[in-house]
Amino acid sequence: MTYTSPVPITDGHLYTGSSLELRGLTMAYGDIEVLRDVSLTVEPGTTTCIIGPSGSGKSTLLRGVNRLHEPSGGDVLLAGESVLRQKPDVVRRRIGLVFQHFNLFPDHTALENVALALRNVKRMSRAEANRIAHERLAEVGLAERADHRPRDLSGGQQQRVAIARALAMEPEVMLFDEATSALDPELVKGVLSLMAQLAQRGMTMLVVTHEMGFARRVADQVVFMDEGRVVEHGHPDDLFDRPQSPRLRRFLSEVL
Ligand code: ADP
Ligand code: MG
Repeated sequence: MTYTSPVPITDGHLYTGSSLELRGLTMAYGDIEVLRDVSLTVEPGTTTCIIGPSGSGKSTLLRGVNRLHEPSGGDVLLAGESVLRQKPDVVRRRIGLVFQHFNLFPDHTALENVALALRNVKRMSRAEANRIAHERLAEVGLAERADHRPRDLSGGQQQRVAIARALAMEPEVMLFDEATSALDPELVKGVLSLMAQLAQRGMTMLVVTHEMGFARRVADQVVFMDEGRVVEHGHPDDLFDRPQSPRLRRFLSEVL
């Protein structure tokens, strides 16, 4: 996987994303099946947003893709290869995940939070890790905040550090699980615009979000889930303007 150095935002694609395909993915907690036969394809360099009510299985789906919870059936293909046949830590290096809660190390600076992952996972020297960490922080607009600890950063800045940390691994796909849900309203926009930039730069992204404006503007494809199934999927204009199923119509009337 090549990773082009960040440059000021342009229309050019800077990432070389891979395709991600879910085939009949089924997942359970104990005996309770919460994801049933979910199939979807995210083409390389495109963004798919998953929307749906709480409890519909969106987080579980991302956990299955990233091998945080083992699927009970079906398959997940990254660039055409099954991730279920790869070691979980290899999969997590290839597929970045950003959560609602940023999980930064509180006693380390922004720079160290990014560099530590590079040293531990990629076995880089301190100098090399710091150099790349600086680049990634600059990419998310935090070059000036490299020496700040999480408590001295806003929630939005902390989330951008978490995104920089994920990007530092040179992922082929990025997953986001309600990345802005824990943020104060005035901080949401900065994180969403960073995510939109990543999409524009050609990152392959699978984004669980309640931000319908973001889904409409940025997604190439929107997937509506309910009760562990994909109910409807398609182009955002079709889903939002011409919902076919009563369940999606009801959901949209509640959130829009
Ligand atoms: P969403 O992210 O769409 O809100 P989740 O994937 O978190 O949905 O949850 C889907 C279903 O799985 C829900 O019914 C939820 O209660 C259940 N669930 C989620 N996590 C666990 C768990 N660790 N153990 C048991 N059930 C869980
Ligand atoms: Mg969730």
